[in-house]
Amino acid sequence: MWGYDDSRAAVRDALRLSRAMTFKAAVAGLDLGGGKGVIMAPPDGRLPSERREAALLDFADAVQTLAGRYITAEDVGTSSRDMSVIARQTHHVAGLARRGGGSGDPSALTALGVETAIRACCERVFASDSLRDRTVCVIGLGHVGARVAKRCAQNGARLLVADVDGRKRSIGERLGARWVTPDRAVQADVDVLVPCALGGFLDQETVPRLRCRIIAGAANNQLEDEGIADLLAARGVLWAPDFVANAGGVINIAEERGGYHPAAARLRVLQIGDTLRQIFDHAEEIDATPLAAAMELARRRLAAGAAARPSPPAHG
Ligand code: NAD
Repeated sequence: MWGYDDSRAAVRDALRLSRAMTFKAAVAGLDLGGGKGVIMAPPDGRLPSERREAALLDFADAVQTLAGRYITAEDVGTSSRDMSVIARQTHHVAGLARRGGGSGDPSALTALGVETAIRACCERVFASDSLRDRTVCVIGLGHVGARVAKRCAQNGARLLVADVDGRKRSIGERLGARWVTPDRAVQADVDVLVPCALGGFLDQETVPRLRCRIIAGAANNQLEDEGIADLLAARGVLWAPDFVANAGGVINIAEERGGYHPAAARLRVLQIGDTLRQIFDHAEEIDATPLAAAMELARRRLAAGAAARPSPPAHG
């Protein structure tokens, strides 16, 4: 759920996000993908509680009409509580509270996956996956970003944090992090930049200003367009494709099928590290960007999946 100026912007976002879900699921080896739900809030993003509930229930009706071909779950602007509202109208919803038999808020496992991706990138660039004394800047201290920041701080990283919402400053203070504005965060002189806000922030204007060595974060669709991956490579910045780094949540949710086991979900999320290593190796072999290598892997798995099974359910 997000605030948009007009419905075309919301539709554009839904299409971009659904494409990203397809690549994300394919690279993670999940038989899901192809869909994403967007609930359009007013431009300021605020909905009074009764209108919010009505919007969630309308959305639930739409999900129900798809009769299981689309399964919804929590993402930016929504919470597990919102998923329980949706569950009143449809059972095609994942990420419900653990006490209700669901896998809970996926953000914790998304954050674990992002940490794993950061470590795989550090290993490649600095020949060590340790976060001790690495400088890390987390942009967006929401459900995922706050958890990633905490994980990095607990593992000895020196932390900078940024958010458009000044109320998030206290999260940084608790972690001993330095607070910077989002604009300064993009050009922070750090080892790792961790985008955990919204997409599209890497473009022709921001990439020349980057001073980090690595970008690995949860935000979906971080590149304004695919050509930005070449610009990042030319600037010597190792970018972990977002749909690989942020797959922890959907991997966790997929574990609900057949009975949820947290330890098994965790192990699968940790495989994001191996997937990234494979992608970076392949990118080097074919002299391409990590994005090109990741997309090639996704397309290969999609082709194999299409041959084996004609109509997988959408998810997002
Ligand atoms: P969230 O809404 O909980 O947090 C987003 C945070 O970013 C908020 O604190 C917001 O104030 C801040 N923000 C917004 N615009 C900003 C800007 N321009 N600069 C700095 N901060 C800004 O969302 P979330 O669930 O933490 O998700 C974060 C990102 O990760 C989103 O792009 C989401 O699609 C993606 N993602 C989330 C999950 C998940 O499990 N929640 C899974 C995969 C991908």
